Amino acid sequence: MKPMIFDSHAHYDSHQFDKDRDELMSLMAEKNIGTIVNSAADWDSLTEVVELAEKYPYVYAAVGLHPDEVHVLDEEKFAFLKEQCKKEKVVAVGEIGLDYYWDNTPRDIQEKWFIRQLELARELDLPVIIHSRDAAEDTLRIMKEYGQGLRGVIHCFSYSKELANEYVKMGFHIGIGGVVTFKNGKKLKEIAKEIPLDKILSETDCPYLAPVPHRGERNSSLYLPYVVQEIAELRGISYDEVVEQTEKNGKRLFGI
Ligand SMILES: [Zn+2]
Repeated sequence: MKPMIFDSHAHYDSHQFDKDRDELMSLMAEKNIGTIVNSAADWDSLTEVVELAEKYPYVYAAVGLHPDEVHVLDEEKFAFLKEQCKKEKVVAVGEIGLDYYWDNTPRDIQEKWFIRQLELARELDLPVIIHSRDAAEDTLRIMKEYGQGLRGVIHCFSYSKELANEYVKMGFHIGIGGVVTFKNGKKLKEIAKEIPLDKILSETDCPYLAPVPHRGERNSSLYLPYVVQEIAELRGISYDEVVEQTEKNGKRLFGI
């Protein structure tokens, strides 16, 4: 089978796609987008991502609450989240982690539910999709304490090369998206060039973070070729090799 692009992180449940979601999704195969992992973030998305995965054959779901959203959780709601994780085509727990940029949710609450969701992934034997923004130290501390032996991806990686290597050593993948095409994306360019290719996942995080030359527009998987091209140029390898290896990486990690 011809290799196809793997989008390891999207949010097609976003209202930004309400007007043309079906139309957009119908274009994926002809544009060589083969697989999409649609990640939950807020409470409503725990249901929506499962529905989207049921509707489109090449869409899979990650179920979990983003650190900015975990303040809604209690034990009853956590039990619902767990049941959603068991639905068909749910391939990961995510996105989960810490976000000190917005700091909308008290840090101790973020930490508590981050750890609980890591433990859930271990219990259900699912990979994790980690969101971490301005919280490098605490994320690493928690991953070292509670993430050992888990598999997953640090999505939209925004830290140093040293830290990327640390996660690679722990067995995790690094998610690389539109930022790698930005002029001010120097750190990420270096990472995309140097970490082992079998640890890179391509991702959009759409509707956010559209790559150059569409920076600032609504993002979609149709723009992912710009990210793949940038990774190929940085590494001095072919576009097709990046497509093939990142697809392999994604399929292996998520068991697709
Ligand atoms: Zn996301």
